[in-house]
Amino acid sequence: MCGGHEEVKEFMNSLLEISKEDLTDSQLEYELFNEMDIFERPVVCASCNTMISDVKFLLSLEGRSLHHFINPSGLRFSFYTFYYTKNTFEYGEPTEEHTWFSGYRWSFLLCEVCQSHLGWYYRNSDDSFFGLVDEKIKFT
Ligand SMILES: [Zn+2]
Repeated sequence: MCGGHEEVKEFMNSLLEISKEDLTDSQLEYELFNEMDIFERPVVCASCNTMISDVKFLLSLEGRSLHHFINPSGLRFSFYTFYYTKNTFEYGEPTEEHTWFSGYRWSFLLCEVCQSHLGWYYRNSDDSFFGLVDEKIKFT
C-alpha cells in the first residue's frame, strides 16, 4: 500500500484536532492542572491549603512577578502576579480607585473554600490577571 503510512498519520492528526476542539472548558482546565500536578509546584491558600495556582502561572509585569506597594491607609503589601487561578472568586464591584496598575479596574479575590482574602483580580477591556498577597499564599 503505497503512501498508506502517510494516510494513517494524517488520519490520526485529524482525530487529534477534532478531539481537542471538542474539549469543554472544564476539561481543558483539568488537563491544565493535571499537567501542573505532575510537573510544577502548586501555590496554595495559606489559611486552608486549597490549591489556587502554580508557579508556572506566575505573570511577569514590568519585568517582575513580585510587586511591593503601600496602600492609601499606609499598609505595606507585597504580592505576586499570576495569569491563572482556580478555587477563587471575585468579590465587589470592579473599580479603578487607587489602582496599582494604570487603566486596570480591580475587585477583591477570595478563596472559594475558606473565603480568605487572597488579593485582587485586575482587568481592562482586553486583559486580566490576578495579584496574590505573599502572606496569603504558600509556595509548596
Ligand atoms: Zn482558603
